[in-house]
Amino acid sequence: MSGHGNQAEMMQEEPIGSGLKRRTEEALNNPFLRKAVAFTTDKLRSGRLQAMEDFGSWEEWRERGRAIREHTIRHLDFYLNQFAENVVKAGGHVHFCREAGEAVNTFLDIAKRHNTKLVAKGKSMVSEEIHLNRHLNEEGIEAIETDLGEYILQLAKETPSHLIIPAIHKNKEQIADLFTEDSGEQMAPETSTLAAYARQKLRQYFLEAGIGLTGCNFGVAESGSITLVSNEGNGRMVSTIPKVHVVIMGMERLVPTFEDLEVVLNLLARSATGQKLTVYTSLLTGPRGAEDLDGPEELHVIVLDNGRSAQLGDPIFQEVLHCIRCAACLNVCPVYRHIGGHTYGSVYSGPIGAVLTPLLKQDMKEAGQLAYASSLCGACYEACPVKIPLHDMLVHLRYRKVRLKMTSLPERLAFRTFQTAFGNVKVYRMATKAAYYLQKPFGQNGMIRRGPGPLAGWTKSRFFPMKPRLSFRDRWQTLQNELKSSDRKKGQAAEQDQSHNGKGERGTY
Ligand code: SF4
Repeated sequence: MSGHGNQAEMMQEEPIGSGLKRRTEEALNNPFLRKAVAFTTDKLRSGRLQAMEDFGSWEEWRERGRAIREHTIRHLDFYLNQFAENVVKAGGHVHFCREAGEAVNTFLDIAKRHNTKLVAKGKSMVSEEIHLNRHLNEEGIEAIETDLGEYILQLAKETPSHLIIPAIHKNKEQIADLFTEDSGEQMAPETSTLAAYARQKLRQYFLEAGIGLTGCNFGVAESGSITLVSNEGNGRMVSTIPKVHVVIMGMERLVPTFEDLEVVLNLLARSATGQKLTVYTSLLTGPRGAEDLDGPEELHVIVLDNGRSAQLGDPIFQEVLHCIRCAACLNVCPVYRHIGGHTYGSVYSGPIGAVLTPLLKQDMKEAGQLAYASSLCGACYEACPVKIPLHDMLVHLRYRKVRLKMTSLPERLAFRTFQTAFGNVKVYRMATKAAYYLQKPFGQNGMIRRGPGPLAGWTKSRFFPMKPRLSFRDRWQTLQNELKSSDRKKGQAAEQDQSHNGKGERGTY
């Protein structure tokens, strides 16, 4: 055992919704985090835009991607069966797990059967979702993250804060400090030095681990293949060196055919990092065959539901299962870019996390609060390679909270007042006139810098423009009156001119 801590265990667990405000304030007051997140998301975003331009006909590809995902999810039962049959035909084992606990127990059974004490892990968001490391740790099994970003976070005892760049919030200096502490030697904050240290350190784990664990970017139903895309070689090490390879995947991560895979891989790499293709794209079908030189002796695929099937058939939320986890929506989200991933309090952050978390947890009270961590600007939809209308879903989640009477009394009263004012023209006019006078004690130079009571939240990090004395309607009316009066004057002047000219004509006659 190396004595690595368990990241999920070390993270202070707190309720998602009630801790949201505090975590947001902390993030907003952390200039380093904001700079680091904005820097990397900017890079990813411009890479994506460039890749889209180079690719040409991006909208057509996007539409094809959406159609493939829609078809797959609509016929998910069929493709899951086909996939499972083909995994078994290729010599693997498939375990369908309804809940997180079932998936954990399945993994533990496999580990115990092989008397495994060390698990080498490739990147797997689903394993984060079910807090697998913590459960393994409790059973005396050590899990080592071998993805560089995840390894850094394991040393820092933190969870990922981005779908594809888990340590997006850390810079080279911080990583060098972590590696210095781990190695007992001073590490220079240089990428090559740090990568070399991690490479050398992780090598022994690939060799010693009894089980290699990976996620699955896409399962190909027609062959039962597992697709892994990565920019590091760890995925191949983890899936080929240990005697047992266990794959944990969400039940929706399928494509019907290799032809479909080509489309989604093109969309994924370009949307995620702006690459044409990730550095490593591995397709694994079954365990090692008699003629293969390497590969695991046993392959297990754990297919997890954990709240996903509850979205099937839902006219609004089924589409969330179309997601290919590219993180493009995070990189463009004005909220994520300011507060980073940990603020969401969930393994899935950003716009997709704000929708997915309450749905998977089936918890509107706590996790449903994430639906408010959005400006509803729609940038996520514009960026999404499979056209998931996340901004619409966020509105529907808010509506669900209202329907379930989960909003606070002041909020309900505020909206009731708003409804009354906007539903009656007389009340509306009176209210907007009164607002002009009521705001005066709080305004200065056209701005409200500190709002009263609960409105203080609005003005904490930005100023609110004061309502002008005249509303748009008033100004419009004034303008109309001025135009009418000017037309009238022009008309009178024209009449006078005409009568002068008429007299003149008569005179010359
Ligand atoms: S919702 Fe769309 S943009 Fe966001 S991670 Fe999923 S596929 Fe990518």
